Amino acid sequence: MPLQALRGTTDLLGEEVKRWSVVEHTAHRIAQVYGYQELRTPLIEDASLFLRSVGETTDIIQKEMFRFEDRGGHDIALRPEGTASVVRAYLEHNLHKTDGFAKLFYLGPMFRAERPQAGRFRQFHQYGVEAIGSESPWVDVEVITLCLHILRECGLTGAVVWLSSMGCRNDQQRSAQLLRERLMKGKPKLCKECQARFEKNVFRVLDCKNPTCHEIAWRSKVSPFVLCEACAAHFDEVRRGLREASVSFDDTKIFTRGLDYYTRTVFEVRATGLGAQDAVAAGGRYDHLVEELGGPSMGAVGFAAGIERVLMAVDHGRAEAAPMANRRRGVYLAVATPSLIGEGFRFVQQLREHGVCAVMDYDGKSLKSQLREADKANCQLVAILGEAEVKQRAITLKDLEQGSQETVSFDAFVDEVSRELKTLCQR
Ligand SMILES: [Zn+2]
Ligand SMILES: [Zn+2]
Repeated sequence: MPLQALRGTTDLLGEEVKRWSVVEHTAHRIAQVYGYQELRTPLIEDASLFLRSVGETTDIIQKEMFRFEDRGGHDIALRPEGTASVVRAYLEHNLHKTDGFAKLFYLGPMFRAERPQAGRFRQFHQYGVEAIGSESPWVDVEVITLCLHILRECGLTGAVVWLSSMGCRNDQQRSAQLLRERLMKGKPKLCKECQARFEKNVFRVLDCKNPTCHEIAWRSKVSPFVLCEACAAHFDEVRRGLREASVSFDDTKIFTRGLDYYTRTVFEVRATGLGAQDAVAAGGRYDHLVEELGGPSMGAVGFAAGIERVLMAVDHGRAEAAPMANRRRGVYLAVATPSLIGEGFRFVQQLREHGVCAVMDYDGKSLKSQLREADKANCQLVAILGEAEVKQRAITLKDLEQGSQETVSFDAFVDEVSRELKTLCQR
């Protein structure tokens, strides 16, 4: 039996790749509009990077991270998320000394050994941004606005922002104490992992997938977070900024993010069609991560969006595929006899140099089957080169969309085709 792709991974072909490409290009383009520059980090990192940032007691580290020892005995991990790598790179390349405030964009695969289910993959893909070096609530506003702007350009309407604040580290210590008191009575019924989490990191009990733990953790419908005056003021500023930017949000929902590095603002962008627990994008502030990874103390905020989930949500909101997908484009050059392949190739190459998508057959197929292929390849124009045409130094040009036909001289050919094709080949 031929080999197959691993469970939880997927191949992308045909129209699917085009749809992905649209999301990737849109995210990149809009991020640049907001002043975010792309950065690319490796897919593998020292596992300790994620232990120190994401947190040892999180599900991501305990159950989901792909972790292995290389031949030299190093503890390696496939990156389960993007933020830790971006901050590591920010410090490694001294951007805190040269740039100070840096706005970075990333895009690529992430890896988690989750049980594969709808919209969850072992290799999944995210784009995201990190704004490192500011505590200003306006940066939170910018990041949330940017996140929604990209989704809107991708065709996702009706997304809802859940907004909350987890407070500073001091607040989190107080909140943890209050949460322990609240959960104390149910403690004996918590699973083995949550027993350990109860002392070490009680917030992680809130994301346990065990139904009993979930019931105990969420029994009281009160936010687990208490805020000091400064954090409450920061949260107010974020909300005020969002209102000024005409971004609507819901700050009544109680939720947590399953990573340890978050402080103050956290948010999730939710869309229908993904199941009750799930968000298309999420992010927040992480004001201590830079310092915890060996840098100076500086504020930072970012978000990540899952490309698979964005596409699922767009599909759900719009039953049919993007209208662009099936539009005819490019030119197919058909030759009447195989002896004209060389002549034809010369024209095809000239078109390509002009940025026009041009294809032809090199196997000596009949004219009839070349025309069939042109239709199948969804070309807008077919150029036919025959013996008689070559003698007259002219080419027949058929428009498959309009059904029209004309004869064009060799000299005018490239200009004429470029003019007639409304769209260039997608790069
Ligand atoms: Zn605080
Ligand atoms: Zn549990």
